[in-house]
Amino acid sequence: MSLLVLVHLLINMKYLWKQDAIEHAKQCDPEESCGIIAIKNNQEKYYPCKNISNEFKAESFVIDPLDWADVEDSVDQIVGIVHSHPQDVLEFSESDKYSCKAINLTFYLVSPKSDKIAIIQPDEINA
Ligand SMILES: [Zn+2]
Repeated sequence: MSLLVLVHLLINMKYLWKQDAIEHAKQCDPEESCGIIAIKNNQEKYYPCKNISNEFKAESFVIDPLDWADVEDSVDQIVGIVHSHPQDVLEFSESDKYSCKAINLTFYLVSPKSDKIAIIQPDEINA
C-alpha cells in the first residue's frame, strides 16, 4: 500500500462519523445541532446531544449536561465537539472560538446543506 493511499484511508477513518453529524444537523435544521465526538473501543463516534440553549437556537447551542454525562460515562474519551450552522456558513463565530478555548477540545462545524466540515483546535485561538 502506498503512503498516499494510507493517508487517505486514515483521513476517511478519522471522520467516519461525519455523515452521522450531518444527518443530525439536517434533523435539527433550522436550529443548530450539537454533539460530542468520543472514542470507544478505539473508534471515534458521533453522539448527538440536545441543544438546550436559552437563546435563539438557530444561532447558538448549549449541550445538554445530562447528555454530556451519559456520553462521558459510556465512552473511553471525549475528544471533540460538533455543532452545525444551519445558515451554511462554515466559519466559527467569536463565541464558538471562546467556547472551544474554554472547553479545550477540538471543535468541528457542519452544515445541513453541505458535506464539508470545518475544524479548529483550541491552541489555534489567541484569546
Ligand atoms: Zn457556531
